[in-house]
Amino acid sequence: ADLGRLAAAVLAQVRDVVVEHEEELGNLDAIAGDGDHGIGMRRGVEAAADAAAQAAASGASVGRVLEAAGEAWSERAGGTSGALWGSAVIASGLALGSRETYTNEDAITAVTAFVGAITELGKAEPGDKTMVDALLPFREAFLGEFDGGTTLAQALTVAASAARAAAAKTAELRPLKGRARPLAEKSLGHPDPGAVSFGLIAERVAAYIH
Ligand code: ADP
Ligand code: MG
Ligand code: MG
Repeated sequence: ADLGRLAAAVLAQVRDVVVEHEEELGNLDAIAGDGDHGIGMRRGVEAAADAAAQAAASGASVGRVLEAAGEAWSERAGGTSGALWGSAVIASGLALGSRETYTNEDAITAVTAFVGAITELGKAEPGDKTMVDALLPFREAFLGEFDGGTTLAQALTVAASAARAAAAKTAELRPLKGRARPLAEKSLGHPDPGAVSFGLIAERVAAYIH
């Protein structure tokens, strides 16, 4: 149940960083998409943080807290990113189950489940200019850090900067998936909104876990 409360506290941080960047994410999505990435992420994550807080307050396991959060996220966000984020949060909840403490191995399992859910559901390939272009470098850096025998906080910090850098580099890509595809040329020179929001979230979670 302590781990459930930690998960709820992390989701509250995720909500805060999304709210702080809502306008910027919307503007980025308006360049070649439909402009709703900021509002969609905010709606989803507010519902997720509320559901997580409620579950944690009733003593739910980390798995149940994350499942409730992910379900609320998908339901309330609407849009592609909401469905992907919701399924990823649920998948990491299922991976963590009802454990009371976590090891580095558990953290790796949760990150792998999170990224795997998004690639399985969205089927985007590297270079398609989606959040996957930030997620894969994040996962690679995270797993690589643990191979070097580091702490969770350090691994998250290194992985989050890899995600931020990779998100910025999506500016060079043309979108091959999602709503931005028809306006691909307009998108050149601007990073993918979903990759940017993931990088910001990863950075905030890493800072919080320290
Ligand atoms: P919508 O495109 O439905 O309006 P959002 O604007 O909230 O949803 O999210 C757009 C983001 O979703 C994109 O910037 C991209 O990162 C991500 N995205 C779109 N399609 C996919 C996909 N198939 N796989 C992974 N991510 C995707
Ligand atoms: Mg959109
Ligand atoms: Mg939309």
